[in-house]
This record gives sequence, structure tokens and C-alpha cells, in this order.
Amino acid sequence: MASRYEVKRIAGERVRILLNLASDVLRKDEELAKRYVQLAFRIAAKARLKLPREVKRRYCRRCKVPLIPGYTARIRVKKGCGGTKIVVTCLRCGYIRRYPLKGKGQVK
Ligand SMILES: [Zn+2]
Repeated sequence: MASRYEVKRIAGERVRILLNLASDVLRKDEELAKRYVQLAFRIAAKARLKLPREVKRRYCRRCKVPLIPGYTARIRVKKGCGGTKIVVTCLRCGYIRRYPLKGKGQVK
């Protein structure tokens, strides 16, 4: 019987593989890429895996497309009195996400 740890490890591996596949097929078949991302997130949720924020931010929360700057996403850095914020717009569904920038060199 697989231990809890094993289950999580295997799920983590599958998630990684699926997310890699998603970026591989993105430029050829966007619908397929979205399906891979959706599946990866579902596996992670089922195994109660916590995906790092940096990983989750790479995908649109609404349509699940991998967010590639200049291709599927527009990324803007906004400076205001509340600090620097990053604004990510999904070019596929229009979903806008804003989050504060902490420290330097986090944006790529
Ligand atoms: Zn989207």
C-alpha cells in the first residue's frame, strides 16, 4: 500500500509532467494545453498538494492557459503609493490579476 508520502510524491510528479506537457503543446494546441493544466490542478487538489504560488501564477486562474508574456499574457508593473504591483492580463479570456511585488528580481 502506498503511504501518504508516496501518494503525494507520485501526484507531484504527475503534476510536473502535465504542466511540462502543457507548455510543450501550447503553441500547437491551446485547448489541449488548458486541459493538461486543468488535470494537473485537479490531481494536486485531490492529493492535497500545495502548489507554490509561483507555479500557480503561471496559469490563468479562469481559463487555465499557461501565461507566457507577450504570447498569452500581458504583464505590467505598476508603481503606486501602495508599493509596486504586477498586473497580469490573460490575453485569452481577459482575466486580470494583480499582486504586490516583494523584493527585487521577481519578475521575469
Ligand atoms: Zn484566461
